[in-house]
Amino acid sequence: MKRPMRLRQNRLMRDLVAEARFTRGQLLQPLFAVEGIAADQPITGLGETARQPLDSLLKRIGADLEAGVTQFLLFPVPGTKGESGFRPDFAAKTIGEIKKRFGSDLLLWVDTCLCSLTSHGHCGVFHAKGAHAGQLDLEATRAELANLAKTYAAAGADGISPSDMMDGRVAAIRSALDGAGLGETPIMSYSTKFSSCFYGPFREAADSAPKFGDRKAYQIDARNRTDAIESSVRCAEEGADLLMVKPGMTSIDLILPIHEATGKPVGAYQVSGEYASLTLLAEKGLVSFDDALLETWAVFKRAGAQYLITYGARHAKRLGL
Ligand SMILES: [Zn+2]
Repeated sequence: MKRPMRLRQNRLMRDLVAEARFTRGQLLQPLFAVEGIAADQPITGLGETARQPLDSLLKRIGADLEAGVTQFLLFPVPGTKGESGFRPDFAAKTIGEIKKRFGSDLLLWVDTCLCSLTSHGHCGVFHAKGAHAGQLDLEATRAELANLAKTYAAAGADGISPSDMMDGRVAAIRSALDGAGLGETPIMSYSTKFSSCFYGPFREAADSAPKFGDRKAYQIDARNRTDAIESSVRCAEEGADLLMVKPGMTSIDLILPIHEATGKPVGAYQVSGEYASLTLLAEKGLVSFDDALLETWAVFKRAGAQYLITYGARHAKRLGL
């Protein structure tokens, strides 16, 4: 009789043969920098991750560094919105302040999208007039995104993370960075991003819920595997250095195929709805939060994720990672 239970009998024995585990340096902590607020604003289901003004965000980052976090994904949320011609001054100032204070103690990845800047909350700009009025203006969208990326990188961002899913945006960003002498700045692309119900708490946090329609015209349909893999392949061809699936939980079957198709590191985003499901279950006494979080992380690693964006990154050291 085979006896696999011999190696499962106690924690030290299980640790000895454990295969799948992230290191702390592979977990990214999201941060929300919000212009024009005076105090932290909690976000439903996201625990200690709040919408923060700059001074309190800097304190939070200091505490996170103490807690062992080294990788951050910043979402800048400006106070004023518009239609086009964006000047991301607030984001640039925030990035500059963070890097001035903490320098090379951290890597600062900056989410690069238009939905926190547009008055309508979509990830692109629309034709204002002419035959295509009301339709997405892809060329103008790519130009706006490229300009954001250039500004963020020039302000000190360690990496650019485009999350919009507009065709051709990685190529546009890569060429804008290279043209501005920012050829060393890597791109972590949200390369396989599905249209999903699990982004709820985030949209509240980033002030980015679309005012009309939805994002199904540019995000991937959850039913489609081929489109999902192709999307990451295109990002890799256009110059993305790191790829990502989002939402992590519902894309777990795609991590390895994307890695095999591209040879690139593939990460996952444990999105706000996934994370909130753990905090809300714990609040109801239905799971142990720490155990559940560790279980999900182990599964992402087992599935081949090279890195993970998670609202729980700041708990990793406490949890023994
Ligand atoms: Zn967006």
